[in-house]
Amino acid sequence: MGQHSIGEVLGQVAVGRLITRLIARDHLPHALLLEGIPGCGRRTFATAMAQAILCLAPCAGDSCGECASCRLIRSDSHPDLVATLHDSVAGQVGVDVVRDEIVEAAYASPLVSARRVFILPGIERWSVAASNTLLKVLEEPPAAVRFIATTAQATAVLRTIQSRCQLYRLQPLSAGDVERILIAGGIAAPTAHARAVLSVGSHRGLWQDTQEIPLEPLLSLAREGYRSAVVADVLSCLPTGLSETVAAQGLTLAAEQRRIVRTWLSALTHELRNDLRLGDLRAQQAADRIVRIGALHGDLARNLNPRLVIEAIGLGETERLLRSSGL
Ligand SMILES: [Zn+2]
Repeated sequence: MGQHSIGEVLGQVAVGRLITRLIARDHLPHALLLEGIPGCGRRTFATAMAQAILCLAPCAGDSCGECASCRLIRSDSHPDLVATLHDSVAGQVGVDVVRDEIVEAAYASPLVSARRVFILPGIERWSVAASNTLLKVLEEPPAAVRFIATTAQATAVLRTIQSRCQLYRLQPLSAGDVERILIAGGIAAPTAHARAVLSVGSHRGLWQDTQEIPLEPLLSLAREGYRSAVVADVLSCLPTGLSETVAAQGLTLAAEQRRIVRTWLSALTHELRNDLRLGDLRAQQAADRIVRIGALHGDLARNLNPRLVIEAIGLGETERLLRSSGL
């Protein structure tokens, strides 16, 4: 993911304004705790904050994106930003790592910028020993240092750490923002839309290409009507068995198939919306199709067989064509 200014981080406008105001007035606390659900953009926001803090030509508390410091952040090589610890290993952060890479390093002088920034992800999962080691530097932080810790749940962070950090909350992402983030990350628009519709405040788990959406045959059914070969083509993309991860969630094959067809219908609707921009009759047809697919969403919710739903995408069109030709 590319680097952003704070103002460019999607879905965190309110907390972004608060932070840039603090940076502009040089009132940013020495230690901050960013709380947010996994996948809401904690790392992106923390990095944007670091970029703003370290920027050599900040504007209204946000980074310029162009100075030597901003360029170093973009190439992931800023010597005054320490963000080596990864969220995934937060549970195994050792005392020696905290002592050498954070506490010791905090007393080093900045090289490029006026400050040094440490990003500490998943701090609620640090061991008590590791947390206590950090505490030594949190109690009397060097003037030039800013710590940005992130957590899924602030109340799970060791109390002594909590009490030395100012807490800021990141918001769950809207489906629209999840869609924009996925598209910016290179996911095709219809797929991004289909996945975002089912998201719950987070882009986590939505990046893997777990499932190919048979968009071409679906569009062909919607626009040109029912043909059994095309229906078969679409149905061949449905899983016929359960993956281990899905089975572990206690889902049945039918439920998983309905879930997948729901994402297909969302992708199809997204694509048909493009037709609304065409003039005249085609826009009207697209509007009708979108309404019809909306109704099929309801049919799926009432446990209608996925095959019947796929067939119905084309059947409505055939009936309509027959009617309009007076047969
Ligand atoms: Zn800059």
